[in-house]
Amino acid sequence: MEKENMNLVIVGHVDHGKSTLIGRLLFDTDSIPASKLEEIRKTCKELGHELEFAFITDSLQEEVEYEFTLDTTQTFFKTEKRNYTIIDAPGHKEFLSNMITGASQAEAAILIIDVKEGVKEQTKRHAYILSMLGIDQVIIVLNKMDLVFYDEKKFNELKTNILDFLNNLHITPLYVIPIVAKDGDNITKHSDKMNWYSGKTLLESLDSFEPAKSLANRSLRLPVQDVYEIDGESVLVGRIESGRLKAGDEITILPGNTSVKIKSIKSFLNEKTEAEAEECTGIILEPPIPVKRGDVICTKNDLAVVTDRFSANLLWISDNKINVNEKVILKLATQKIECVIEEIKQKIDSSSLEIIEQHASELKQMELGEVIIKILNPIAVEKFKNIPGLGRFVLMQNSEICAEGIIV
Ligand code: GDP
Repeated sequence: MEKENMNLVIVGHVDHGKSTLIGRLLFDTDSIPASKLEEIRKTCKELGHELEFAFITDSLQEEVEYEFTLDTTQTFFKTEKRNYTIIDAPGHKEFLSNMITGASQAEAAILIIDVKEGVKEQTKRHAYILSMLGIDQVIIVLNKMDLVFYDEKKFNELKTNILDFLNNLHITPLYVIPIVAKDGDNITKHSDKMNWYSGKTLLESLDSFEPAKSLANRSLRLPVQDVYEIDGESVLVGRIESGRLKAGDEITILPGNTSVKIKSIKSFLNEKTEAEAEECTGIILEPPIPVKRGDVICTKNDLAVVTDRFSANLLWISDNKINVNEKVILKLATQKIECVIEEIKQKIDSSSLEIIEQHASELKQMELGEVIIKILNPIAVEKFKNIPGLGRFVLMQNSEICAEGIIV
């Protein structure tokens, strides 16, 4: 059987040890090709020092960036339980944008903090991103415990301080682990220098996390793309965002809230009886009722939220600014409808992640807003973290995308 994968992000203030930690994870899990390792050892020797773990990470990531010039870099390591993909992006803006558009979605996060330095500006901003994206499987590692002589008291002090700060962002880390990324303490092996710590190692903690439920195993959400007449029958077509369906299932069509049955499934090449998430499919209803583009099909009694108002985080990308209550078009799955930003609770600079203003009246290019969106009529939506396909949206002005956002 193929091993499951989990997407992971590692964040933290510059110099707190992120590269070293990634290098260490790759090394200790034998995830670096031998030839590559030899090359790196040689280079380090030439430079006159020991194998430097940050260097492993940088040289692997550089290579990936060079080869694909992607917005996202991916690094891999594996444990007995599963494969891990560490996803990263060159800056906050790219990172946020990738996460929103679904180019990469993190299921777990490690926030690394230098135990001597404590919480710094970037630590705060990164924690904010985690909270904004609703990542709730979070590990805090307090790094460089060697610099405080593996002191339990120092660890506990900082731990209390961090838990307080994260609490304000509604993040409850599942583990707080004292580590030495440089030497590998409590990364894959328990440290004999910190016997006072009886919790899990970093790898054990990661392995205890739950992978996100596959899209096919979540509630059925099929946004209708089009309706065709074929051989005298109406065939609804669309891409299944989540869940699965089969002939005979009882379904409800939103936002109208009418319930019918699936008579049969049509696909272009072969007759099927079932279809699941990420497939494009056609279905015929029984009895046939009028359905239009933008309607969302759900399993009866397991419905999406129908609302005309929701909280969202959005990144304004157009060079035209937008004012509160100015009309724009919302596109969410196949739904397209007029809306306004009713309230901007807070706005943030997307590259520095600094808060610019609270209760703002306009959003400018590359500002990130925590907003309330009010739609002309109710539509079917979901929280991004539950069903990404019905929780991400774009705003359009004059047929151009001017913002991308997620529903929280
Ligand atoms: P990044 O900017 O967060 O990726 O940080 P790096 O991994 O490049 O590390 C910054 C510096 O901290 C480097 O000089 C590392 O060798 C050093 N460093 C990383 N982890 C440890 C550690 O556990 N103990 C000590 N003493 N130094 C460390």
